[in-house]
Amino acid sequence: MECTDYDAAMPTLLVTHRDCIAHEPGHGHPEAPGRLSAVLDIFKEREFAGLIRLEAPMGRETDIALVHEPSFAGAVMAAVPVTGHAALDADTILSPGSGAAALRAVGAVTAAVDAVIAGTARNGFCAVRPPGHHAEPTHAMGFCLFNSIAIAARHAQTAHGLKRVAIVDFDVHHGNGTQTVVESDPSLFFASSHQYPLYPGTGAAGETGLGNVVNAPLAAGSDGKIFRRAFETRILPALDEFAPELVLVSAGFDAHRADPLAGLELEEADFAWVTTRLMEAAQRHSGGKLVSVLEGGYDLRALAGSAAAHVSALMGKA
Ligand SMILES: [Zn+2]
Repeated sequence: MECTDYDAAMPTLLVTHRDCIAHEPGHGHPEAPGRLSAVLDIFKEREFAGLIRLEAPMGRETDIALVHEPSFAGAVMAAVPVTGHAALDADTILSPGSGAAALRAVGAVTAAVDAVIAGTARNGFCAVRPPGHHAEPTHAMGFCLFNSIAIAARHAQTAHGLKRVAIVDFDVHHGNGTQTVVESDPSLFFASSHQYPLYPGTGAAGETGLGNVVNAPLAAGSDGKIFRRAFETRILPALDEFAPELVLVSAGFDAHRADPLAGLELEEADFAWVTTRLMEAAQRHSGGKLVSVLEGGYDLRALAGSAAAHVSALMGKA
């Protein structure tokens, strides 16, 4: 393993906020509040006592406007109902708590970027919801309101002057919104492994942006061996070529074999493996600077176990 120079004195940050539990898309919706509760319960375990814990601040509308149309944040907030639910599309549903949850998700990722760049943490995981990677500059989509990971990339560039920021997405669904932001900007890099075809329908191998987008579509039934090969042969070499100053990770755990929304066959150990490979890449190019954000994952037990494997790896325990 190449992480032998891992600096145990540099801690891992966990950023979350209880407001992210108050987003309730409705009874029977898979993106349920219990997802985050399950993840946060795991981090009460003794092995995670070494995490630095930070309450997510509210995300700034100026940061959201780095990715989304200027009027978008206000429009989403105006659509948040006082009672009951409001639908932005067939599966993107707002409840009274959704606005604060989405703003905390953005604030979590930008705060984690600030901390990692300042050097107060080596890396960080943002345990937040709603997820973000389907959100397009012009519209919410697929459970996602604001594209937190793309906002974090832009924040790293505008607030900290970074020139090259990479986003790697191993959620089982393609991060279409993130790709939209990256594909015309050579200062950004986006790589995604995902089941294909599957929602949202994008992410074919031929979608390469300016050469800064790598899509690794995986057939239904693909297991950890195939997933690892896609990273070893395609994603990791391209990431090294790009030489990012910061690695951002869209960490969805719905490629787990137990997940009800998709058909890949990954296990907890595969998430630990990919996390360690991404940390090694970050170590080669950015002093280890890496910030990860929770995207999907809909089997509560698999989600909690996979998030635990991911964060254990970030802490250097894998
Ligand atoms: Zn997903």
